[in-house]
Amino acid sequence: MDLFHFQEEAPGSVFWHAKGWTLFQALENYIRRRQQDAGFVEVNSPQMMDREMWVTTGHIPTYSDMMFLTAKREGDERVYAIKPMNCPGHVQIFKNGLKSYRDLPLKIAEFGKVHRFEPSGALHGLLRVRAFTQDDAHIFITESQIAEETLKVNNQILSIYSDFGFTDVRIKFSDRPDKRIGDDAVWDKAEAALMAALQASGRPWTLNKGEGAFYGPKLEYVLRDAIGREWQCGTVQVDLNLPGRLGAFYIDENSNKVTPVMLHRAMFGSMERFTGILIEHYAGHLPLWLSPLQAVVATITLDADDYAREVIAAARQLGLRVEGDLRNEKINYKVREHSLAKVPALLVVGKKEAAERLVSIRRLGQEKQEVMPLDEALAALADEAVPPDVRRAKAA
Ligand SMILES: [Zn+2]
Repeated sequence: MDLFHFQEEAPGSVFWHAKGWTLFQALENYIRRRQQDAGFVEVNSPQMMDREMWVTTGHIPTYSDMMFLTAKREGDERVYAIKPMNCPGHVQIFKNGLKSYRDLPLKIAEFGKVHRFEPSGALHGLLRVRAFTQDDAHIFITESQIAEETLKVNNQILSIYSDFGFTDVRIKFSDRPDKRIGDDAVWDKAEAALMAALQASGRPWTLNKGEGAFYGPKLEYVLRDAIGREWQCGTVQVDLNLPGRLGAFYIDENSNKVTPVMLHRAMFGSMERFTGILIEHYAGHLPLWLSPLQAVVATITLDADDYAREVIAAARQLGLRVEGDLRNEKINYKVREHSLAKVPALLVVGKKEAAERLVSIRRLGQEKQEVMPLDEALAALADEAVPPDVRRAKAA
């Protein structure tokens, strides 16, 4: 499908090709629209920060095996860490400027590229990489908002999965691990709030004992795909530790400084991994709105070339991602090639189609061809290419 490749010099890092990156961006834009609807603002934070920041957060003692660090160099004695998480950066954005209880909930999102030193034996295509992009967000709230905001995140995560045909979703509740920061009293509070949200959601769940993050308990979402395989994707984590460690506060109704609670939230989890799961789930037959190349206009004879160019231009005018195949090859050869490349729609044009302004449509995986007027065919494809959330918004 010419989506991506890996090579030895960059273990666990994806070289996205143009088509793969188009798919990646379609997914990113989908999440961007969904989280804007839910009141998130999008930010961008530094790729590297001083190692000392990660000592303060507690990452260095508990998580340093997973981190990439720079070497000291002359003129700058500091060691920098390439971020394995976006959380500390988002807390810095929260801290910049005085915050009031009226600013909460404050929802900060980032398509954050993170690096983690996964052992090379664990690397597995797009499904386990070292460099990946989280559809990450941090929600700064008061203690009394934990249950309500967790439930909102939970509902949006489930709605997003159903847009990709994942309706069989299990939720795992992971409580305190042995290796952790923070007092037990704080953990008690965080776990109780998460449990309340979980029960209010009405979904079946299981306890994942001791599997929480080192800074707080979490909910994890496990999808079952078309052929019954399970994939863990999104998470929501309550964090009563990190904002305090990094000195974040807001001013409450009584003018007191209060440490906010932070929810960590990812819906796809890793964009790279979710892309891999989708390719498996759809067995390469991506729905039209996600297909990097939605249609190919293929000519039967050379004298249909001008008409083919016209069809391509008209399709692009409607926002469709279309290419032409005007090579001097047999049409069966072209059909086979584009089917192998999983192109969802093939628009075949010859002398007759050109004369009568028709196209012969052949859909991936189907034997039959349907001859239709050009405008009608393109309008139907353009309609099918509308993302599910945009379609819902139009209908509302
Ligand atoms: Zn986080």
